[in-house]
Amino acid sequence: MQFTRLRLSGFKSFVDPTELRIDPGLTGIVGPNGCGKSNVVEALRWVMGENSAKSMRGSGMDDVIFAGTSARPPRNLADVTLTVANEARTAPAAFNDADTLEVSRRIERAAGSAYRINGRDVRAQDVRLLFADAATGAHSPALVSQGRIGVLITAKPAARRAILEEAAGVSGLHTRRKEAEKRLRAAETNLTRVADVIQQLD
Ligand code: ATP
Repeated sequence: MQFTRLRLSGFKSFVDPTELRIDPGLTGIVGPNGCGKSNVVEALRWVMGENSAKSMRGSGMDDVIFAGTSARPPRNLADVTLTVANEARTAPAAFNDADTLEVSRRIERAAGSAYRINGRDVRAQDVRLLFADAATGAHSPALVSQGRIGVLITAKPAARRAILEEAAGVSGLHTRRKEAEKRLRAAETNLTRVADVIQQLD
């Protein structure tokens, strides 16, 4: 899955609309301490469905919204859009009719997040599955943050297996299986209820 562009607006220190082109090959971000390098990587994770405020270095998800400086007032909205190449048509069927996918996430203060793919409202789960199927996502082992290597080395076997499954692109299948099991349980409950009603009618 090739990411080609990242657009941020009102996200952390990126108060003004900012566009970053991601060309094939290696991309490096250089700059002085505190200029926002980690914020760019966090924007990538956030648009792919990160739901832990702590791992975004905040106490609540609203902390990703530009909080203001002495010179500029805070914002109420943050928006991140990731453009993904889809010429190979590897996206799930529902979104597989375009050469590029624009995945966006928007958050409004005290109102939560909303996701869109190519302008259509979608669930957070749809976005997570899209990236999980391509062996990437907010928790992709390809995004190696500070301290992650240590965590991997000391991880328990089950946690290490989850990391390997994520890398192998099968974690999306687990999510789908859980959804299917939930639907199956609901159907079984309905069947029991129907059996009770039939018994009462007999
Ligand atoms: P280093 O090289 O030290 O790791 P960095 O380039 O990775 O730094 P970041 O950690 O990405 O820098 O950015 C930190 C900056 O982002 C700080 O100046 C901080 O004030 C600012 N920042 C973080 N969250 C917000 C927010 N919600 N609103 C405004 N600014 C924010």
